[in-house]
Amino acid sequence: MTGSANPTLIPLLYLVSAVLFIVGLKGLTRVRTARRGNAISSLAMLLAIVATLLELGTFSPTWILLGIVIGGAIGSITAVRVQMTAMPEMVALLNGCGGGASVLVALSVIWERIIEPRSRATLAGGEFNTVAITTLLSVIIGSVTLTGSVVAFLKLRGWISGQPILLPGRHVLNALLLLGSIGLAGYFVATGAAAGNLGLIALAVCGLTLFLGILLVIPIGGADMPVVISLLNSYSGLAACATGFVLSNNVLIISGALVGASGLILTQIMCKAMNRSLANVLFGGFGAQETDSGASKNARDYGPVKSYSAEEAALVLESVESVIFVPGYGLAVAQAQHIVRDLAELLQKRGVDVKYAIHPVAGRMPGHMNVLLAEADVPYEQLVEMEAINSEFRNTDVAMVVGANDVVNPAATKDSNSPIYGMPILEVHNAGTVMIIKRSLSPGFAGIKNELFEYDNTLMLFGDAKKMLQDLVAELKEAD
Ligand code: NDP
Repeated sequence: MTGSANPTLIPLLYLVSAVLFIVGLKGLTRVRTARRGNAISSLAMLLAIVATLLELGTFSPTWILLGIVIGGAIGSITAVRVQMTAMPEMVALLNGCGGGASVLVALSVIWERIIEPRSRATLAGGEFNTVAITTLLSVIIGSVTLTGSVVAFLKLRGWISGQPILLPGRHVLNALLLLGSIGLAGYFVATGAAAGNLGLIALAVCGLTLFLGILLVIPIGGADMPVVISLLNSYSGLAACATGFVLSNNVLIISGALVGASGLILTQIMCKAMNRSLANVLFGGFGAQETDSGASKNARDYGPVKSYSAEEAALVLESVESVIFVPGYGLAVAQAQHIVRDLAELLQKRGVDVKYAIHPVAGRMPGHMNVLLAEADVPYEQLVEMEAINSEFRNTDVAMVVGANDVVNPAATKDSNSPIYGMPILEVHNAGTVMIIKRSLSPGFAGIKNELFEYDNTLMLFGDAKKMLQDLVAELKEAD
């Protein structure tokens, strides 16, 4: 960084900003403090921007203001308009932007500090190595993050197939691309000014790793996509961290490391909740097996199922003592969180014991259900995590599954050929009666059949979750 308006103020601002990032992140770990955590992190970002501008000393206010206005407008409009269910797509885009920004900064530093001066004489040997290594690292990680995130976004949007696309020899190709880019980067560092065209080499490293990002994410699909997005989030942090070293900017190093570490922890949490290893997620081609075996074609082949109307289901609910609600992705789609709370309160007034069972990967991101239910002011004490509630289903009259599917699929415990085999599930099948609210017999995210729908103690309540719950509330109120 050049220029320095105030040598004490700037490091102090960076320090405060870094501390606020950490405090903000801590706030995000709990639903109650998440909003505050977000606000604190935004303030930290503002301070970091102010400190950077002060450090720059002279800059063109027009460009900076244009960037703030355009970027701020795009960010605010998208954040206000995005649906909760589309959050993974939004995160994928943000990761891509982070990776892309790191690549652009690194390439411009290579240009400004290495290529334009035309000689490594302008940088002492050690300094040349530091600049070259950090910038190329930033280019490599940032490029993979950029294209990987774009592919993830396109898959989640449904603009390209969400299924894994398995190219023959992909592992060899990926290894060649990775080794090729590392080899070129090594050549860049080793030969320095002697190399004919360092600019072209840097661009070649960028090109190879952009391609690698596409190939790494293309074979991943189905329920593994959110895990990949979390991993790309971690990569975007690492790219920012490398860029921090490029610019000798401590706050970028710290915040990048925070994003890198938290993304990795989240990835690990998701893998654990699905009982998969990260290697299996990255190289396993989830969903491809069942497409090959034809199992996905059978995902809608069901024997007889019991379909109940809201009126019939309300009659059952009138005589129960305990109900556990099991929210899933469909609850988020239908935005049924408020009406589910209304039904729960109505049942409680009738003396029914009510709880909510929370599966760690219900919905499309960890904590999805906690956030939705908190938004509807469901008392936090009623939310019970999977490990704690599974033993309770046996003594529960009704397990009411609202728009959940994979997280209650017994195939995960019984069928060793199932792609979700080994994923811990909410054992709703042990309840006296299972009521499942969904619109059809369509599969969930994993794209597989759920034999729970055919069980003797299962009643299917076909319909949109919000509408069905509204009808149930109306029926119960009429009975009061
Ligand atoms: P699923 O995706 O398995 O099923 C959701 C169900 O909701 C569908 O079967 C759909 O059936 C139903 N649905 C959709 N819209 C509505 C509506 N308007 N009203 C009523 N029902 C509706 O969701 P789960 O929450 O059970 O499981 C999450 C999946 O995501 C798992 O496979 C998990 O592994 C995966 N995943 C989640 C992550 C996370 O962090 N949360 C991370 C990684 C993966 P129909 O169309 O018939 O209505």
